[in-house]
Amino acid sequence: MTQDLSAVQASDNVWEMAQRQLDEVGSLIGLNESLHGYLRVPKRVLEVSVPARMDNGGFRMFTGYRVQHNMSRGPGKGGIRFHPDVTLDEVKALAMWMTWKCALVNIPFGGAKGGVICDPKHMSMQELENLTRRFTSEISIIIGPEKDIPAPDVYTTPQIMAWIMDTFSMQHGYSISGVVTGKPLAIGGSLGRDKATARGCMYVVDEALETQGRTIEGARVAIQGFGNAGMYAATLMAERGYRVVAVSDSHGGVANERGLDIKGLVAHKSETGSVVGFTGGERTDNREVLEFDCDVLVPAALEKVITRENAPRVRASIVAEAANGPTMPDADDILFDRGVMVLPDILANAGGVTVSYFEWVQDLQANFWEEEEINERLKRKLTRSFREAHEQAKRHGVSMRKGAYCVAVARVAEATKLRGLYP
Ligand code: GLU
Repeated sequence: MTQDLSAVQASDNVWEMAQRQLDEVGSLIGLNESLHGYLRVPKRVLEVSVPARMDNGGFRMFTGYRVQHNMSRGPGKGGIRFHPDVTLDEVKALAMWMTWKCALVNIPFGGAKGGVICDPKHMSMQELENLTRRFTSEISIIIGPEKDIPAPDVYTTPQIMAWIMDTFSMQHGYSISGVVTGKPLAIGGSLGRDKATARGCMYVVDEALETQGRTIEGARVAIQGFGNAGMYAATLMAERGYRVVAVSDSHGGVANERGLDIKGLVAHKSETGSVVGFTGGERTDNREVLEFDCDVLVPAALEKVITRENAPRVRASIVAEAANGPTMPDADDILFDRGVMVLPDILANAGGVTVSYFEWVQDLQANFWEEEEINERLKRKLTRSFREAHEQAKRHGVSMRKGAYCVAVARVAEATKLRGLYP
């Protein structure tokens, strides 16, 4: 008789997963019940219907969301995702994770996130521009440099950020660069923002290796996802002396135990649109990459890819979550029991929002910094966050995710409590 897995398996709803992650640290930090209830739900949810003109002269309706989870520590912050699988629950989870991420790296932002259900791979640039501008206009009632500041996320680019900035500015009659981050340099973007997620991920992996008494040189890395985070992670880590042995994108993967030629691979991807077919390695696939023989696994694509089914087969000793939410809670427990150190998303991919914060500060001051200064500040912030999370993890004998949550949730709880209830 086949077992009914649905009965025994924890929910794979990503919003419930985010809530469960919060619930699991409540008692560790002595979070009181009412505050816990407050932090378990988003502050504000906006759903918009977005008519966008298509190339055939007609228009199509799209659905979009902007969710603000908590703004006790400052304006909302978080990316906008364009993807066919976007759901409100997903955006709620991503907004909650942004709250913890901003608190962990101690930048004065709350958490927010946006998403539009669409398939950008099958839209022209003009259609994407039309959709972006109308979506921006629909959510303009709740965004702004002091209110909520969007940024790139899955399948959204600096060009899309430029359209958001322009639409919002046109509505107000003057240029407001601080309304969005991840912009092109020419209109108030920051040096280092494009590689920031990957760079931050590398810095925390460096720290993790150090705590395990291991060296960077030759440490084997497998990366799932070859977008902004995955591609730059491969590039930066290879430059630093890591050996990148396997990578994949949504079409498939490529592996070479002696180390892939990343420059060649990036050129191949930009020519063909995929890493598949690269001749410097063997063909592999998206799922195999997760189980590849390596020291560091970097899931850099979408949520829920490490499950209780494949977690026992993960061979890395460090998992660095460049993606948001790649590890399901049951898988987290399995990895922890097996001694695998999972560097949680709110730490491992926090480099992106950290440099977004630097971009916002530079925009508000109209004073721009050198890339060296940006990378140094990023390193300081992430190294400190790693150490704070690690200390909590050791103190309570829990995973790095729970350690990071202890730091982050306590900060948000303190701010929320200090501000008190209105009215
Ligand atoms: N989308 C990125 C994230 O998930 C960056 C957000 C931002 O820069 O505001 O952290």
